Amino acid sequence: MRTNVPTVVPQSLRPRIGKVCVAITGSTSAEMFEKASSVVKESPFLEFRLDYLDKPLLALPKLKHFLADNTAATVIATCRREAFGGKFTGSVAAELEILIKAAEAGCQIVDLELESAESLKKPEIVKLRDTGVAIIVSHHDFNATKDLDAVFARMEPFAPDFYKIVPTAKSLSDNVTLMRFLERMDHHSNIIAICMGEPGIISRVLGVRSGSAFTFAAATAGEETGPGQIAARTLIETYRIDQVDQATKIYGVAGNPIRSSLSPLMMNTAFRRETVNAVYLALQTTKLADLLKLVHEIPIQGLSVTMPLKQEIMAHLERTDPLSAKIGACNTVLRQDGKLYGFNTDVAGITGPLEKRMSIRGAKILVLGAGGAARAAVFGLRDKGADVFILNRTPETAQKLAKQSGAKTIKKEAIAKTPFDVIINATPIGMAGNKATQLLEAKDLNTKLVFDLVYNPLETPLLRMARQQNIPIITGIEMFVQQGARQFEIFTGKPAPEEEMLRVVIHALRQQAEAAPEPEPKSTTTKTEVKPTFKSTAKAPVKPKKKA
Ligand code: NAP
Repeated sequence: MRTNVPTVVPQSLRPRIGKVCVAITGSTSAEMFEKASSVVKESPFLEFRLDYLDKPLLALPKLKHFLADNTAATVIATCRREAFGGKFTGSVAAELEILIKAAEAGCQIVDLELESAESLKKPEIVKLRDTGVAIIVSHHDFNATKDLDAVFARMEPFAPDFYKIVPTAKSLSDNVTLMRFLERMDHHSNIIAICMGEPGIISRVLGVRSGSAFTFAAATAGEETGPGQIAARTLIETYRIDQVDQATKIYGVAGNPIRSSLSPLMMNTAFRRETVNAVYLALQTTKLADLLKLVHEIPIQGLSVTMPLKQEIMAHLERTDPLSAKIGACNTVLRQDGKLYGFNTDVAGITGPLEKRMSIRGAKILVLGAGGAARAAVFGLRDKGADVFILNRTPETAQKLAKQSGAKTIKKEAIAKTPFDVIINATPIGMAGNKATQLLEAKDLNTKLVFDLVYNPLETPLLRMARQQNIPIITGIEMFVQQGARQFEIFTGKPAPEEEMLRVVIHALRQQAEAAPEPEPKSTTTKTEVKPTFKSTAKAPVKPKKKA
């Protein structure tokens, strides 16, 4: 049934179509056009989701004015019915009437759901065509990624100007199915293919790289019209989608949860700053097999690995650095000649900021926690000659770690009377949304320095308590940026732009805090000053030693 005749983007539309179409919604037409007017100067390619309005027909005169006022705008009109994931409760005949009137109002493209097209009579579709509008026939599967060729074959009889195929990714591997489909269809320049869902986020960037005519974006975060949709500004400024091409190297952060990770912002900013043709994506998965399949199927050059995969990935690496082997966890994977090499930059993220302030050799350091971050701290500090003490909620885990690393355990009651050079928090206590009681009280801070690995909020209750006693602090942001900077250097062999990385992360955290403020602390304090005190220590990527 498939034709071998290549289909292309209509000639008249080709210069008007960018890589990103911004979906415009609104519960009233006034709201919709206000939004469109604020977006159109930056992004003139828009989709008006008329199905979000109670009475879409009444918005069409305004749409006509909008198009007359914004001659550079290219507009898709969509009025998706409820049964197919939209909000329009009318009949297919009513949908067709709205699309015809939208075309007459000047929209260059209309979106007709495949099921609508299949239920319309041929003359009805001819009537829509006769308006001169370009037609997207679209198909959305909100449950899975199935046979995409079969969906395409159903669309072909309508000879649409664009084929829009949007399945849902349940795993990272579903993105591979989508990309392989796009590659098989590379003689068609008018297919739009994206995976919905959190694991499908990468398809919103990589789909375009594999040949999707364009992708869709939300006007702003919070206004997504499909699960996993990314805000237009993020796609354009952070992911630099306009510059993504076949030569663009692919990196990513893998784990769960990943959508709120600041790593894509930080690393893509670093790539942009250092003019590296690379993109860094959020790879949402809890299953290592799923991640490994993606890594083997698409040319991913490097990974940041986070919870829950840091330990499990070790068995699949050709070699690791000695500290990763001791810790039993790796947070950085580099692919060279098809093989995977592991590094642990969490250690440098902890020892680096300390070494800028003190000598670690011989220092007496208390580590709170005995999980992944604590293991990196304890082994890293022991490696540099510190006298390390561990306090953990589960004493057995602390004892095991102490035995493995040559550290000691300590009881809570002994802390106030034991002077330390540094106290490091490696538990999630103090993290935004974590309501657990603080492990230490003010009287326990018998130390010269407090380092909280938690980085959200910028000032944790522990850091606030330290600052109130005039004890110097190190924030978790410094660790986050340091471990990311070392990863950047491993990935690219270039010095990391640490100050810029720090700046964007702090800015993002402040914006998050403004959007969802934490409850006011009891005492009044000024904002934490986080000074970028880093110096780059770039080294070319080195192949680590053979795994022990
Ligand atoms: P993890 O492996 O889950 O370990 C968590 C540790 O905290 C365990 O020792 C656990 O004790 C303890 N803990 C958890 N909840 C507790 C509570 N309510 N009371 C007392 N102890 C509690 O997590 P992780 O990967 O080590 O990460 C720990 C924290 O470090 C994260 O939340 C994150 O904020 C921070 N971190 C920051 C960076 C950075 O770049 N700045 C990087 C990595 C981690 P049990 O053994 O008793 O369960």
